Amino acid sequence: MQIVVASGNKAKLREIAQIFRGYDIVSMQEAGFSGDIEETGKTFEENALIKARAVSEALHCIALADDSGLCVDALGGAPGVYSARFCGRHGDDAANNRLLLEKLKDVPQNQRTAYFESCVALVFENGESLVASGRTYGRILFSEEGNGGFGYDPLFYSDDLGKSFGVAAPEEKNAVSHRARALQALAAKWKERGL
Ligand code: IMP
Repeated sequence: MQIVVASGNKAKLREIAQIFRGYDIVSMQEAGFSGDIEETGKTFEENALIKARAVSEALHCIALADDSGLCVDALGGAPGVYSARFCGRHGDDAANNRLLLEKLKDVPQNQRTAYFESCVALVFENGESLVASGRTYGRILFSEEGNGGFGYDPLFYSDDLGKSFGVAAPEEKNAVSHRARALQALAAKWKERGL
């Protein structure tokens, strides 16, 4: 069975393929979807559903989308759904990380708690949908540690791993990541519902 992923991010595709073994996982570009999808939702779930629905309706296929971000307690949950464009420009990881450090410069270690959240949505050809989410907890460091991963990874000290995601090997991060947890929960729901 084929699942079209509403993303062009190769790292995400690999992670999804590892969890949905036995399925033919293809990117929306490979499946022939070239449009831009505007993420107008106010929650991760709304955005994941917007993306999966757009691809499923255009290609009449089963589509999967993920929407994720970093939520920092001392910032009232920001940057949250705005994580990719925290600094005002979409996807400028270096500027996003600088801004995060600046906003937290006077916040002591014990108040720098944060979590990554991912929501994944699966939309079927008949319009039915399933959603699931996952979190991974930690805190924001005072400076970058490592340069692995992407986005806020070098600033995120993982409670599960006892080190930053920036120094963790991909398999280590994938074992505890918000996205892996959301995908596992989604796979379990799919099996349970027998859709
Ligand atoms: P999107 O779900 O691809 O829109 O990603 C939203 C943004 O959240 C990314 O651009 C990153 O800034 C941040 N983000 C989401 N997941 C991760 C992660 O696993 N590590 C680091 N940053 C992440």
